[in-house]
Amino acid sequence: EPVSQLIDAASQYQEGAAAIWRITQVQRLSTEPPTQHRSAPPRLPTALSGPASVRFADVSFRHRPDVPYAHQQVSFEVPATGTTAIVGPSGAGKSTVFALIERFYETTSGRILLDGQDVRHWPLHDLRSQIGYVEQDAPVLAGTLRENLTFAAPDVTDADIRDVVRRTKLDALVDRLADGLDTPVGHRGCTLSGGERQRIAIARALLRRPRLLLLDEATAQLDAVNELAIRDAIAETATQTTVLVVAHRLSTVTNADRIIVMDAGRIQAIGTHAELVVQDQLYAQLAATQLLTPDPTTPRPSPL
Ligand code: ADP
Ligand code: MG
Repeated sequence: EPVSQLIDAASQYQEGAAAIWRITQVQRLSTEPPTQHRSAPPRLPTALSGPASVRFADVSFRHRPDVPYAHQQVSFEVPATGTTAIVGPSGAGKSTVFALIERFYETTSGRILLDGQDVRHWPLHDLRSQIGYVEQDAPVLAGTLRENLTFAAPDVTDADIRDVVRRTKLDALVDRLADGLDTPVGHRGCTLSGGERQRIAIARALLRRPRLLLLDEATAQLDAVNELAIRDAIAETATQTTVLVVAHRLSTVTNADRIIVMDAGRIQAIGTHAELVVQDQLYAQLAATQLLTPDPTTPRPSPL
């Protein structure tokens, strides 16, 4: 009996350790970028609320002097309204947009502005706490659904949870689970579909009230119900936070307010779906052949 208890404890410890590791990854509030620029003293807005705007001003970036540029003179503007989608072939530089906004890397030249302020002027914690990031294969941790939603936002109320559950179309899941929000999910918990996992990750990010939501769409092939639910969840989200999504599904792209087409580290075109299908050959091709397939997941810089 004691031996079997010990074995149980060891396995629980391992699950706990794995969960903590992932939580640190999700919270990722403390990684320093490789170089620190000493720049003008910050004049930061005092009230941080409402959707944020983003601007890339002539950004070039390469990881090291001996590798090709991942971004070349990239300029675009994401206003603080609606959904902006980024599309392009694998290796185009889409994930690099996210990594640069969050300052996992510093630009080689050019500037990135959040609400008109150079991201290098923000203290890293303040910068990243305004940003929600949902990765392609978002983890669901061992624990209840409620714990999965709130671990990065411990101060939320039940009303906040209910609101976000509704906006991310998770009500049906909550109804299906024997103990609702208090049902264990993740390891040894009930089975969730790829779409449900993705919406849990979106809901988790939303509960932190980000001003900017960066979203890499799921790799999993989604059924029609889940696809519609995610599309609706993104649309609802965009009323409260700026959404910048690397889009792999045509439905996300056609519903976006604006689309940025990237190819080989450059901006190829910017417009709406209707504009781009007639104006941009690469976009027309991507749309026609459903080439919006997910890239192989690039490992993100880890805080550990
Ligand atoms: P996408 O998300 O559009 O598939 P990425 O932004 O991940 O493209 O990558 C853009 C380019 O940067 C690619 O050519 C990729 O090989 C390169 N790259 C990504 N990460 C690194 C790295 N850590 N070191 C060197 N090159 C990298
Ligand atoms: Mg990518």
